Amino acid sequence: MSKAGPSVGDQIDARCTKCRKILNHTIVAMVDSRPVRVMCNTCQGQHNYKDPNAPKKTKTSTAKTPRVTKAKANHREIERQEWENLCSAKNSVEAASYAMDGQYVPGSLIKHKVFGLGVVEQATGNRKMIVIFEEGKKVLRCA
Ligand SMILES: [Zn+2]
Repeated sequence: MSKAGPSVGDQIDARCTKCRKILNHTIVAMVDSRPVRVMCNTCQGQHNYKDPNAPKKTKTSTAKTPRVTKAKANHREIERQEWENLCSAKNSVEAASYAMDGQYVPGSLIKHKVFGLGVVEQATGNRKMIVIFEEGKKVLRCA
């Protein structure tokens, strides 16, 4: 095939999430050279594009690898910054030692044996909560 890549407005076969069939779609958004959002020509519904022919696992996306790593590093940095902001806004003397049977409210400062100072972000139910530590978010047990 000597065909240029698809572009916005092109027709493309995609699985429609509403019709549940492979149907003609119009590309409405692209990232790089891949369609990411399409509109079903049958029901006019818009949804994210999934290549119906895409193999489940592919190792051909080598060009993407560095970007993914960078995105992860940025995410990591954002979390650390968040942790720093949260901790600097609190008096570390108030930090309660973390205990599995402790009760914590969002915003509480806790001291963990392994992870150090952390701030409770939210309870996730099921006796678990998300705590932001310097090294990132952790899910911890709570009462
Ligand atoms: Zn449809």
